[in-house]
Amino acid sequence: ETAEKKPHIVMTPFMAHGHLIPFLALARKIQETTTTFKITIATTPLNIQHLKSAISNTFSSSNNDISINLAELPFNHSQYGLPPNVENTEKLPLTDIIKLFHASTSLEAPLSSLISKITQQEGQPPICIISDVFLGWATNVAKSLGTRNISFTTCGAYGTLAYISIWCNLPHRKTDSDEFWVPGFPQNYRFHISQMHRYLRAADGTDDWSKFFPPQIALSMKSDGWICNTVEEIENLGLQLLKNYLQLPVWCIGPLLPSTTLKGSNSKYRAGKESGIALEECMEWLDLKDENSVLYISFGSQNTVSASQMMALAEGLEESEKLFIWVIRPPCGFDINAEFKAEWLPEGFEERMKHSKRGLLVHKWGPQLEILSHKSTGAFLSHCGWNSVLESLSQGVPIIGWPLAAEQAYNAKMLVEEMGVSVELTRTVESVISKEDVKWVIEIVMDQEGKGKEMKEKANEIAVHMREATVEKGKEKGSSLRAMDDFVRTILQV
Ligand code: UDP
Repeated sequence: ETAEKKPHIVMTPFMAHGHLIPFLALARKIQETTTTFKITIATTPLNIQHLKSAISNTFSSSNNDISINLAELPFNHSQYGLPPNVENTEKLPLTDIIKLFHASTSLEAPLSSLISKITQQEGQPPICIISDVFLGWATNVAKSLGTRNISFTTCGAYGTLAYISIWCNLPHRKTDSDEFWVPGFPQNYRFHISQMHRYLRAADGTDDWSKFFPPQIALSMKSDGWICNTVEEIENLGLQLLKNYLQLPVWCIGPLLPSTTLKGSNSKYRAGKESGIALEECMEWLDLKDENSVLYISFGSQNTVSASQMMALAEGLEESEKLFIWVIRPPCGFDINAEFKAEWLPEGFEERMKHSKRGLLVHKWGPQLEILSHKSTGAFLSHCGWNSVLESLSQGVPIIGWPLAAEQAYNAKMLVEEMGVSVELTRTVESVISKEDVKWVIEIVMDQEGKGKEMKEKANEIAVHMREATVEKGKEKGSSLRAMDDFVRTILQV
């Protein structure tokens, strides 16, 4: 049997749900565009298991031509103080996530071995390595082994720029003012100190966070180009600024909607029979409600809010008398996967909501895209993780922002100031919120007449742009299709 001679793309994601799944979605998108490439995703053994589950969910029923290879990169847990079964952010308290970032640098040698092995077997090196922006060391692997490196940012253009520029230009505050400028943005543009998560705020070049991010991002800025999970038309400003800052090609190939990769799923990486009930339950519950009448609440795959915030949110929801679906987890300080205790909510809250059919509490994990795409869903209270933002906007659903970590505060700022589809409730888990704050913001965003109506219209316009970017009208291809074609052409050039 002759060895396959297809040009080989090796992809390597950072080890978190919000990165693994978009990488898988990107691999799938490339293969839907062209069958030219062989694609291998390389990551640690446990994350390979996650990917396998996600693949077996989705690929069986769809296109059989699509096949994605998986390669295990051996991972040394103890070297960086990680417990033996932890290879992903999902089992880590937020305070320890930085250990996983540092541990990800230990994958450099295993990735080098894999690239060498492929080169030997196929008589040529892979055509490129697509690596997570946070795994900047992959640029060195690519350069030393005769291949190219493309960085993939699983965030939007605006959020990516704000985040990488702040890290690469420490100290962020040159004066005592709480407002500051971020290089790469127009001179009159201001960010606020509260838009930095606590590790970024405390970063001074000597802590574990600033020892990791600036050097890794700087390496990624030396790659041959960036792929961004966004749509040119919806992030005009962010994209132009990011391109100027990087001085590299940026291909906007989005929206990759990660939830579709996990369609029908209510458990993180597994779908099918176990989760069918929750999906059906949510859909049946929504079917009985009026159009745009339900608020969906979720803080992404790994975040939760503080105990006092959770209480205020519940009280505000109850007094607002609006309908809601809330994907709920134990508050900060407790194991996020632990059993939920009624004492974290106002007395009798869950029963009252259930009885009155006013609110549905979904524990741990909900079928997000299905909920967002239901006509009864009118708004999304979100931590503004980029995947959630894309999923919401793709369905024309306005957002109540509550950014918690990473680049989420910049996404939230853009949603409010550039897109006009959002109002922010608060920022971080450290803030104090009252039930009045909750009621106020729900009132505005779910208002079917005034500002809420405007936001809904704008979100719908964005949804149209997102759809058009991925379709071909007559001979005219949408912007994301053109970007993907250009990416393919570029990497095939020797
Ligand atoms: N998600 C889901 N159900 C949940 C929570 C999250 O399906 O209960 C999915 C969501 O649809 C999105 C991803 O998990 O695709 C979360 O990614 P995001 O970038 O929004 O946030 P992160 O988890 O990275 O903080």
